[in-house]
Amino acid sequence: MNNELDTLLKFLRFPSVSTDPSRKDDVRNCGQWLCDLLQEGGMQAQLVETSTEGHPAVIAKGPQKENRPTVLIYGHYDVQPEDPLDLWESPPFEPTVKNDVIYARGATDNKGQLMAHALGALSLLEKEGDLPVNLTFLFEGEEEIGSPNLEPLLKSHREELDCDIIAVSDTGMVAPGVGTFTYGLRGIACLEFSITGPSGDLHSGIWGGSVANPASALASLIASLHDENGKVAIDGFYEGVSELEDWERAAWKKLPSDEAESLAITGASELVGESEYSDLERRWARPTAEVNGMGSGYQGEGSKTIIPSTATAKLSFRLVPGQDPQKILELSEAHLKKHLPAGVSMQITPGHCGSAYLTDPQNPAGMAAQRALQKTFPQSKNIALIREGGSIPIIQSFKDVLGVDTLLLGLALPDCEIHAPNENFPVANFQAGIELHRNLLEELSSLT
Ligand SMILES: [Zn+2]
Repeated sequence: MNNELDTLLKFLRFPSVSTDPSRKDDVRNCGQWLCDLLQEGGMQAQLVETSTEGHPAVIAKGPQKENRPTVLIYGHYDVQPEDPLDLWESPPFEPTVKNDVIYARGATDNKGQLMAHALGALSLLEKEGDLPVNLTFLFEGEEEIGSPNLEPLLKSHREELDCDIIAVSDTGMVAPGVGTFTYGLRGIACLEFSITGPSGDLHSGIWGGSVANPASALASLIASLHDENGKVAIDGFYEGVSELEDWERAAWKKLPSDEAESLAITGASELVGESEYSDLERRWARPTAEVNGMGSGYQGEGSKTIIPSTATAKLSFRLVPGQDPQKILELSEAHLKKHLPAGVSMQITPGHCGSAYLTDPQNPAGMAAQRALQKTFPQSKNIALIREGGSIPIIQSFKDVLGVDTLLLGLALPDCEIHAPNENFPVANFQAGIELHRNLLEELSSLT
């Protein structure tokens, strides 16, 4: 284990912050180091350029044989920026192990989980001189900036990346030691709208009462998004929405997660939303409309009596299987136009979109993943079968370009502080991850 831990710590020392132009060389050096590690471990590895501006990806292949399945494993070696630096208890790029927990930027997201995959395979390769499947690693350096070059890369390396199934460890575990299989993710659709009233800010005493106020118009539009029961009030919004299966509702009830925990994590005073659904059901399997930001009028100290000229808001919709993100944007635009108060004009700018993802956890690949989890976490009575509320758009790209499903076997704990100061990964999760990926390759070898 010491060698394996040392390898991870070396990986974590690269400040591979993909969004920061001054770290461009660090990102590349990190990718090159990873490439060398895989090459020295007996794989055919290469650093693949994406675009002239972009960060390179690493593609590596194990021994290839006929008549066995091809498994592609995806991860990312770039990380989020470390700020705010003063809130870190140890330097983000000088990994520190304290009480068997590794503290560093990227410890969980995604270097720790990626390295567990890599070392699981390399340890098998060292021992057996072969792997149970034809293995391809695809590790990119641009995930934290939205994977702008991933889809082009999938297309330009389509043949090299051809596979039967994909596995990714970039999701969560419901609790320590509980093997968790994520079989669904919500989709997303974003938009911004701005409202314009008078050509400039007006004196609210001289003009108030006669000229429409863009801030009030914005507030009434925002209020029109939901009805009094917490349902989204956009016409057609729920059309085609797939309902939860009975087994999902039953399985989620048994998870070690309850409303008290949600209140404790969020600091909210009570949970709200569609009353016929539980907290987890609302977050994992129901669509939403959320306001992400609003701005209008005077924000400084004291009062300034104006009718502001403009108001803006940013919205995002989380979507579930059966909803088409483009259609949701169209319905939302129609809704906003229909409810726009008199005396103002509106401009709507659509943002990024991604479809929801759902796979059947009981299909052969899903069952193989569950067996691998069960072997690795024998103390967990049942494998937790979950969906997650967030979106991982690349999973849909895999489906669209390569035509295959993705198994999501996450190792992140709820308190891993991903994207935040003091990001951490328990050594036990890293260790279990290495074993999980050995087991996974073995279990997936039975796929035809
Ligand atoms: Zn991330």
